[in-house]
Amino acid sequence: NTPRLIEALDRGVALALARGDYDSASTGAGELLKHAREAGLVRAQAAAEGYLGIVARRRGELEEARAHQETALALRRSQNDRSGEAQVLMNLGTVHRDLGDFARALELQIDALELRRSLGDSEKLDLSYRNIALLYREIEDTEQARRNFEAALDASRRHFDPQSMAGALGSYASFSNDLGDAAKALTMARQARAIDASIGNRPYVGLEDLEIGRALIRLDRDDQATVALEEALAIGRELKHREITGGALLHLGTIALRAGDEALATKRLDEAISLLAEAGLKPALSEAFGAREKIAVASGQLAAAIEFAHRRAALREEMLGTRSGRQLAALKSRYERADADQRIRLLSLNNEVQSLRLTQQALLRNVGIGVAAALGVLLVLLARRYRTTQRLNRALQQKNAEISAHEARLEAANAQLSTQAAELYQAAITDPLTGAYNRGHLLRQLDEHLRQALDAGRDLSVLLIDFDHFKTINDEHGHLFGDRVLANGIQIVRQWLEPGDLVGRYGGEEFIVVMPGRSAGDAATLAERLRAKVAQGLASIGESRRSPTISIGLAGLRDCDAASLEELLGAADVAVYRAKAEGRNRVVPYAA
Ligand code: GH3
Ligand code: MG
Ligand code: MG
Repeated sequence: NTPRLIEALDRGVALALARGDYDSASTGAGELLKHAREAGLVRAQAAAEGYLGIVARRRGELEEARAHQETALALRRSQNDRSGEAQVLMNLGTVHRDLGDFARALELQIDALELRRSLGDSEKLDLSYRNIALLYREIEDTEQARRNFEAALDASRRHFDPQSMAGALGSYASFSNDLGDAAKALTMARQARAIDASIGNRPYVGLEDLEIGRALIRLDRDDQATVALEEALAIGRELKHREITGGALLHLGTIALRAGDEALATKRLDEAISLLAEAGLKPALSEAFGAREKIAVASGQLAAAIEFAHRRAALREEMLGTRSGRQLAALKSRYERADADQRIRLLSLNNEVQSLRLTQQALLRNVGIGVAAALGVLLVLLARRYRTTQRLNRALQQKNAEISAHEARLEAANAQLSTQAAELYQAAITDPLTGAYNRGHLLRQLDEHLRQALDAGRDLSVLLIDFDHFKTINDEHGHLFGDRVLANGIQIVRQWLEPGDLVGRYGGEEFIVVMPGRSAGDAATLAERLRAKVAQGLASIGESRRSPTISIGLAGLRDCDAASLEELLGAADVAVYRAKAEGRNRVVPYAA
């Protein structure tokens, strides 16, 4: 049952690693890799490569460790196993840290962190934070280290994964010891140790005992420190863990030196130096050289003292170089990251600009299409309107022409009507035989002028004309001849009237001339002229035995002191009667 076998092997390797049993872990991982390859199980293969990488790193075989982790990374990526990829990135980062490539290590750890964040893989976030914190600690960025240790603690508290919490606490304790905060380091290291002891994580119990020892020494509690360090030494020896063993021996040597036991101190320090040198743990090694130098000086071994001083100086120089290198690398890493961020920002800005451009183009295109469509519609509408307008114009022109024609006809009709009206009016007020005003119009005119004259205090005269012996004329020459006499006689009167004077037919063969504004004296002269002209004009008419003549009675408004039409005409009548009586063909003014 291959899947079961593989699962069992996987768990076995994990347990061996937790115990610090690297031989078993190595064997198990090799077997896991073999079975996984045969079964074509890529994930299990990746897991095996990862385990082999971890064992190699713990054994200090860093190039081999890197090769295994690179293979594991490629396998995880081929499976698109993002969570697995994050784990490998983290392990590879640890290998690079050990190799001293802090920039690359930090990059890998940050990549792992971001990948986990993007996956929502919050359970292992604490590990990423811890690894990042350790790197910052290495490159002596205390603030960043503290921040990431706190983040790691927070993350593991939230998920209450005892193992990861112990790891976070242990790492933070070590960091606090480095910073000289012994009380904090002691508390955390004890908490971490309690957890690791309960879950049987021996290597970590050993490492935490080291931190407890270091903190207690700083707190001058050397006895308690010794207990913890002896325990760490036992675990280190048991697990063949050089870091734990070397560290324990170094701190125990320091305590022995403080206690004045130079022999014990020398013994412990020499062994520590040997192990720490093998493990390449330079800070602790430097500390061990310092302690050995003190012992050598104190015991008068000057040559040995000088040698330890030299070795310590060389190591310090190396470390300082390494530290400078780390700091430079960190700076470079930060710069590169900032540069990358900048590039990403630029790219995203560029994208935004591009998308804006596209939007703009699309808008322009749409607007263009919209404008074209709108123009098209407008054009159609305009064309329609144009045609409609043209049609309307034509209709309008026609209408106008019709109206003009109507108007012309109307005008003509109006003109005709006016003429007719005028003619009718003339006819209405005129005596058709003589062309003088008829009786009605004459009396209306006379009445009007009389009133105006009376109102304005002006004079006015009237002539009452009566044709002489007209009955006889009719009798002798016929009625038509009589008509001719009347028509010709009045024609002559009208011809010799002064402007403003008017003549009308009073009735039969009697006519009245109205002379507005004239006194009886003035009127008499004019009347006489009229009488003479008529007599002269009618003298040659026909072959009558006697020439037709007229008698004229004259009445001036002032002279006859008339106040009405009747009085005035009565006066004129009286005057004409007298003219008849005096022999006819004469003008007689009224005299009271
Ligand atoms: P006198 O000199 O006194 O005025 O005499 P007379 O004949 O003119 O006067 P009378 O009043 O007796 O006669 C008037 C006549 O005039 C009577 C009438 O037949 C005539 N007459 C009136 N109107 C017309 C008319 O329109 N045409 C014609 N031919 N005769 C008319
Ligand atoms: Mg008469
Ligand atoms: Mg008469």
